Amino acid sequence: MDRLRQVAAAAGIDALAVTQAEPQVYLEAFLRAAQREGRYAQFAVQDVAARLDPQKVLPEARSVISAAVAYKNVDPGAAPRLTGTISRSAWGLDYHKVVRKALERLVPFLQAEYGVQKWHIAVDDTPLVERALAAQARLASLGANCAAYVPPYGSWVFLGELLVDVELPAMPGTASPLPCEECGYRCVKACPTNALVAPGIIDARRCLSYLTQKTDSIPLAFRPKLGSRLWGCDTCQAVCPLNKAAAQSARAEFTPLVDPQFSLLDLLAMDNAGFKEAFGETSIAWRGKNVLQRNACLILGNQKAAEARPQLAETAAHHPSPAVREAAAWALNRLEPSSAP
Ligand code: SF4
Ligand code: SF4
Repeated sequence: MDRLRQVAAAAGIDALAVTQAEPQVYLEAFLRAAQREGRYAQFAVQDVAARLDPQKVLPEARSVISAAVAYKNVDPGAAPRLTGTISRSAWGLDYHKVVRKALERLVPFLQAEYGVQKWHIAVDDTPLVERALAAQARLASLGANCAAYVPPYGSWVFLGELLVDVELPAMPGTASPLPCEECGYRCVKACPTNALVAPGIIDARRCLSYLTQKTDSIPLAFRPKLGSRLWGCDTCQAVCPLNKAAAQSARAEFTPLVDPQFSLLDLLAMDNAGFKEAFGETSIAWRGKNVLQRNACLILGNQKAAEARPQLAETAAHHPSPAVREAAAWALNRLEPSSAP
């Protein structure tokens, strides 16, 4: 199995571990409680049974290779006025493509060495609970912020899985329990919306990362909490002492393609072609322009950016999306009264 690790490293995978493709029955109660208590993300597959069993994705699956690709690079500063912050995970090339490509490069080796015939690659596109698979393989430990920590990269990692039809030799990872108690649960205390209702338990519907990505309106109570977050939220990861010491990514693909503190006025002026040019290669692209423009309006309202009044008025009056028009009108109401005659 050392050779698998060598092949993986050459493919751009920073860490991997192998676990059996068995149903994760222990997750069922956890997921059902999240549904019952209204904490379950709308984006997530609602059929809990489909999320537990790798064989529902690949019926012949016997082993799961759980892989991590690290993405920490430059450190962002504070967002200047009239800009919005983009989550670190979305700065570079769309990680779905990067991780998939890296996992594909393992396949010829697994075919030659272990006789693998059927396989399936999952990168955030199956119902499987990737963090739980990584934890089961001991690739990752789960933090009180619900993020997966892979030593020495902290939680700045993308996960992916390669399901194969052969029982591979055991290859556990090196993750060990995190010092969350000694840390004093900094992440839980830092969450602006109390989305971390307890260590290791998240109410997805309160999480700003989820809220910035949903396509309809963001509830009024959460808008001021958005602050200057344009896409995603890194707060509960950024405050973690383990992440401050995390190793950097060696991947050029995650060097920022977009400005991590993006100009909000440039964003409001963008048409579809401009959006595609700016964000087309990133993981933001799938949500489309209106979601970012809606968020940009809310941030301008939070920043009380009077200098953006003309653009907000234009957006409130003429934007084709009702959600963006409404966000612009909300922002205008947050500005100081105009001193213009
Ligand atoms: S901030 Fe502290 S409590 Fe939260 S994941 Fe990191 S070590 Fe654990
Ligand atoms: S991503 Fe942000 S909003 Fe979501 S749990 Fe973490 S700190 Fe809270």
